[in-house]
Parts: sequence; C-alpha cells; structure tokens
Amino acid sequence: MQLPDFSNPLWFFIATIVFFIVIIGRYFLIAGLFYGVFYLWAPLRWQQRKINNRNYKKDQFKKEIGWSTVTALLFAIFGAGTMVLWQKGYTRVYTNIHQYGWWWLPASLAMALLLHETYYYWLHRWMHRPKIFRVMHKVHHDSNITSPWTAFSFHPLEGLLQALFLPLLLMVLPMHEYVIIIQLTIMTFSSVINHLDIEVYPKNFYNHLLGKWLIGATHHSLHHKQFKYNYGLYFTFWDKWKHTESPAYEKLFQEKTAPKPTEMIVAVQECDATKAS
Ligand SMILES: [Zn+2]
Ligand SMILES: [Zn+2]
Repeated sequence: MQLPDFSNPLWFFIATIVFFIVIIGRYFLIAGLFYGVFYLWAPLRWQQRKINNRNYKKDQFKKEIGWSTVTALLFAIFGAGTMVLWQKGYTRVYTNIHQYGWWWLPASLAMALLLHETYYYWLHRWMHRPKIFRVMHKVHHDSNITSPWTAFSFHPLEGLLQALFLPLLLMVLPMHEYVIIIQLTIMTFSSVINHLDIEVYPKNFYNHLLGKWLIGATHHSLHHKQFKYNYGLYFTFWDKWKHTESPAYEKLFQEKTAPKPTEMIVAVQECDATKAS
C-alpha cells in the first residue's frame, strides 16, 4: 500500500487526527474498562484492596479526562511527526519481520521498556525539584488519590517531554511497527493499573521473583502520597537501586492483600473440619 507523504500539511493534519482518535480511544477503552469493573460493577468486592478510602475531589475525574485529552493530542502530533521522520529515513522502524529475525521482536520490546523506564525515572526525579514541580508536574499530583482516569493526566509541558521519548528511541533502536503498538498498549495498561488505587496483584507479589520488579497500584499510590519515593514507571529497579523505594511499601501491600474477614472465617471452618474428621 502506497502511503501519502505525511510532510504535506494536509496529510500531517489527517495523520494527527487519526492518531488522536486511536490514542484517546485506547485511553477511554482501558481506563473505562478498569473503572467499570473495579468502581461501578463490584466496588464492595474490592473495598479492602482500595488503598485510600477518602472520597475523590469534586470534578476530579472531569479534570483528569481533560488533561489526558490534551496529552493524547500531544502524543498524536508527535506520532504524526514520527511518521514524517520515518518516511524521510531518520528512524529505524521496520516492517519486514525477517529483517532482524523473530528473536528481535521480544528483545526490542524489552529494551524499549527498560530505556523508557530509565528515561522516565530520571525525568520524574528532575520534575520533583520544587521550581520545576510547580510548573510542570503539579497537575499530575493534583490527584492525591489516583483513579484510572489519572493515567495520562499531565500538564502539557510534562506531556511534551514524555512524547519526546518515542521518536528519540526510534531513531536509535530498530523496532517493528507491531512491537511499537504493543509497547504503547503496555504503557496504557501499566499506567491505568498503577493509578487504579485498588491493589490487583496477588498476596506476597511484592516479594515474588517477578512481582517485586513490577510497580502496581500500592507502589504508585505511595508516590502520590509521599512525593519523595517510588518514581518508577513500569519497574521498581531504579527505585530499589537508588534507594527511593518507600519504606511503607511492603507493609501497605500486605495490609491491602490480606485475606478478607469472610475468607478467614471460611479458612478457619475448613481447618476445623479437617481436624474434626
Ligand atoms: Zn511525581
Ligand atoms: Zn502518577
């Protein structure tokens, strides 16, 4: 299929619109799914795993959706810009899987996630310097208690710095077009899960061989509450390495994933039943 020249302003505009629809659609779909399942469908079921039990601020969701829409627009403009860079031969995006082999698909995904983690961790720490914080990161922290809608609630300046990552990455790292789509989808899921304010991971996951490296709702809720800990995006390794992981994390995780009183009663009854038989 012959693609149009995206450096033509009209086609650039059309590409931006298409990207915007896809990005905002993905946000509404994934954040909406989690909001529907965890907040509307069976909120009582998740009550114990809800990290903060205070009510949300009035109009919080509306503001978060507003800022996330602005972020989606910025991501769309950068997406269209990346298409131009690709057509002009400045990126290492490829479309034929055999060019680098099958093994490169997961390897490039892993590298992209690790590099994104590194970029965001240090950018995030920088954004917590008081002067910078007030200008570009306060908007995100206005959500003291996060929600699935907080996922892309950023000030446009922060959105800009975040949007810059992908084109920069694609100029150096060969990535298949489908792997890029997978990475962006992981990013959306991860951000929604981390801002859910309901711990969805199993008991002891913070201590699990793989689980200990993953950020979740408890981990990131502590960032929104304590500010000076838990700066990571997907993974905990930078926080562990630079000693910025919250000392309250493990205890809070245990507390939120402890068995519910009803589950304990069932377990005691089962135990009694086996003793009696
Ligand atoms: Zn922050
Ligand atoms: Zn956050």
